[in-house]
Amino acid sequence: MDKRTSFNLWFVVVAIGFLFAFQYFYEQSQRVEPIPYSRFEEYVAQDRIAELEVTESRIVGRLRDPREGERAYFSTYRVDPELAQKLSGHDVVVYGATDHSAIGTVLSWVLPVFLFFGIWLFLMRRLSKNMGGGLMSIGKSKAKIYVEQDTKTTFADVAGVDEAKAELEEIVEFLKDRQRYGRLGARLPKGILLVGPPGTGKTLLARAVAGEAGVAFLSISGSEFVEMFVGVGAARVRDLFEQARKLAPCIIFIDELDALGRARGAAGMAGGHDEKEQTLNQLLVELDGFDAGEGIVLLGATNRPEVLDPALLRAGRFDRQVLVDRPDKIGRVAILAVHSKGIRLAPQVDLEKVAELTPGFTGADLANLCNEAALVATRHGREAVAFEDFEAAVERMIAGLEKRNRLLNRKERRVVAYHELGHALVALSLPGVDPVQKVSIIPRGIGALGYTLQRPTEDRFLMSTEELENKMAVLLAGRAAEKIVFSEISTGAADDLQKVTDIARAMVARFGMDERVGQAALESETGRFLGSPMEGGGRRYGEDTAREIDIAVRDRIDKAFAKAMAILETRRDEMDALASKLLEQETLSAAELPPPTPAKQQAEAA
Ligand code: ADP
Ligand code: MG
Ligand code: ZN
Repeated sequence: MDKRTSFNLWFVVVAIGFLFAFQYFYEQSQRVEPIPYSRFEEYVAQDRIAELEVTESRIVGRLRDPREGERAYFSTYRVDPELAQKLSGHDVVVYGATDHSAIGTVLSWVLPVFLFFGIWLFLMRRLSKNMGGGLMSIGKSKAKIYVEQDTKTTFADVAGVDEAKAELEEIVEFLKDRQRYGRLGARLPKGILLVGPPGTGKTLLARAVAGEAGVAFLSISGSEFVEMFVGVGAARVRDLFEQARKLAPCIIFIDELDALGRARGAAGMAGGHDEKEQTLNQLLVELDGFDAGEGIVLLGATNRPEVLDPALLRAGRFDRQVLVDRPDKIGRVAILAVHSKGIRLAPQVDLEKVAELTPGFTGADLANLCNEAALVATRHGREAVAFEDFEAAVERMIAGLEKRNRLLNRKERRVVAYHELGHALVALSLPGVDPVQKVSIIPRGIGALGYTLQRPTEDRFLMSTEELENKMAVLLAGRAAEKIVFSEISTGAADDLQKVTDIARAMVARFGMDERVGQAALESETGRFLGSPMEGGGRRYGEDTAREIDIAVRDRIDKAFAKAMAILETRRDEMDALASKLLEQETLSAAELPPPTPAKQQAEAA
């Protein structure tokens, strides 16, 4: 008998019990007729009463010979304390009794308590049964640690994320040949965090690492650690690492790391909070306690790296991050090739054309697309999947994806392309700003719509006024480009503006770089938060100065914007050419961008 039917049976039993009890009490109440005291006196006077039971407050009696329609038993509240006198001479048998209250009260309290206790016990039993094991076995991990001894997935199954694959290649080498790495004393990073939007193949990659290296693959999802009882999650973490030690060499993969690695102290649900903290602490302890020499490699995956507790990302923990991004067009072709292996393609289908239709699609979307296309083809009774089937499938999927805000429409793509090129071209024209590595209009899911990757060439400790001004111009160039090309601006620059404002304000109020305000540090680095007027007036300057600061900040921003505008206006043609290339390819590498201007090169060489 499974749980469900046994539950239903219980329910029926209880319900029937209630019915019987109800009926009994109902009948009882029907047998005894409540009557007014005056009627009782009449009965006495007419000698109609055979028996009486008298308590301090009630009288219950039986009639000698009830008439038609009358009940034999009656009850009434006792009103007259001189009852006995009245009764004498009427031939009534009188019993004295105490009120039922004593036993009645006890019963009326005890019975429900027992009843509730019973119900509670019953529910608890069911609950713990559902959780697989009674309360006693909480510590024992029934955590769903999925162990795969022999993973069939290989790197060949993962396409379009070549950079991430290259980074993970090293781990595979290490797991395959630990002696070689050990000999030179090389240490591998213990924990590698795969970061990227959902569906880009993070889980797939982790599994492929295990498959390539031929080691066991232990996986668990962060959300499974989140438990009702404090301490269970921590026990699971301990268990996980214990198992891993037995299976080494192996890979531990923690999916959805953000579910358990959320920054401590951040607002969380009441109650679940302590538990999460304990689990996270245990994870940190375990991370510190093992050494890659044991042959255990830890992989984590998240699409929200920004919420992770910084302690998790410290050296010796998840200290290496691998970006698993949405694929560009070439990547999409490769992914489509992987997933169309399983379906029968018409020979004239050009996957490159399909890739063109699907900017912003993730690996999972593309896998889904292949399946959808096959379904459409089947419905049309075709022998093989044709290009039109892909088109139809894309159309069907796009609506849903757009709703989830993951795809840009044509106009948006153009705006983003010009915006990003604006950043890039100004960065290439001004000395002292970091060189551009890559421009992309593939939405990142995490914040920005497109991005321009600038890598700092060297660690900078000092920056001159001019360098800061140039940096601001680069940040504002996105919006400047939009203004030049579309003569309107969009909301896409909010993040840029935030950064620009921070820099401008720091120049004026922190670094003393503005003549009008003077060389005074009016704010400290954190001062803007700690000393904000809301916090009790920690501001060390008056209204006039505050106004001056605001004006100076605005002035600086306006100047930087004008600078960006001037550069972009002279490079407009170049920008148009690059934009159409960017729209087609979705990414432009440093080599595909124009070289830094001679002025920039000279200034930087000096
Ligand atoms: P994530 O863990 O990043 O959310 P998954 O690894 O679970 O994504 O991907 C889900 C599915 O989508 C995979 O099983 C695979 O079929 C497909 N997929 C995703 N990314 C890729 C890729 N880069 N190459 C091939 N298939 C992919
Ligand atoms: Mg996943
Ligand atoms: Zn921007």
